[in-house]
Amino acid sequence: MSRIAYVNGRYLPHREACVHVEDRGYQFADAVYEVCEVFDGKIVDMTRHLDRLGRSLSELSIVWPVSRAALERILREVVARNRVTNGLVYLQVSRGVAKRDFTFPAPGTKSSLVVTSRSIQRDVSMKVTEDGIRVTTTPDIRWQRVDIKTTGLLAQVLAKEGAKRAGAKEAWMFDKEGYVTEGGSSNAWIVTADGTLVTRPAESGILKGITRAAILDFAGREGIKVDERPFTVEEAKGAREAFVTSATGIVSPVVQIDDAVLGNGRPGSIASDLRRRFHEGVELLPVRAY
Ligand code: PMP
Repeated sequence: MSRIAYVNGRYLPHREACVHVEDRGYQFADAVYEVCEVFDGKIVDMTRHLDRLGRSLSELSIVWPVSRAALERILREVVARNRVTNGLVYLQVSRGVAKRDFTFPAPGTKSSLVVTSRSIQRDVSMKVTEDGIRVTTTPDIRWQRVDIKTTGLLAQVLAKEGAKRAGAKEAWMFDKEGYVTEGGSSNAWIVTADGTLVTRPAESGILKGITRAAILDFAGREGIKVDERPFTVEEAKGAREAFVTSATGIVSPVVQIDDAVLGNGRPGSIASDLRRRFHEGVELLPVRAY
């Protein structure tokens, strides 16, 4: 079955799905995006993802390409047309097409919308749960508005490529004081000796992850202690456990940071439990319920 993408009002086979050469997403990374997990035929936490999209758009003065209700329908339609039961749905909104010029295009220029969806093999995600992942560390060289989910991801491209070359799955970036900000495409967590979850406060240096928020809710319901404070690379290397969260990876236990093996080198019980029970409290929107 060929994959179907939505591009500016049309559902197209991937090979025909193109954007204009002067799309500002292509020219300037003048665009924002969201990725939602698709779990068991349902879109996970779409409300929170679209809330964050709304914030990203308004911070950059990009107008919604379609109404929020229409976008919800398009997301479900793209998932359904691609027959994705477990995987992800991706959306990108750019400031639109205009002659290349740094300043904003004329008022009334329509923003562009692209939506794609694909399956993720269960055995791949199971392997992460069973084996855990390794992370490397690298200075955070990004701009300061990392709270906005823009497609300007070159720093993360370089960080994650460096991790891959070192045999790791993720790169943890750290600020000038040596505190971990976040992963290239995930939020970073450690677990202290007494079982407290520690993650950097969302006020500075990180994207406010939707999966992060879901874990904070879960911890609140379960009475698991959480400390939202910065932690250093050194502290992380000596932590009882570590893990990363993202919509596509949910909770991935970390078993090694650079050369430091955590615990016995196997995924920790707290991270494994959070992963196993993750979907208990999240919003699940059936794709075909319309
Ligand atoms: N931080 C960064 C830099 C990311 O790219 C992502 C994933 N998009 C996250 C954190 C995790 O966010 P979420 O849980 O919303 O996927």
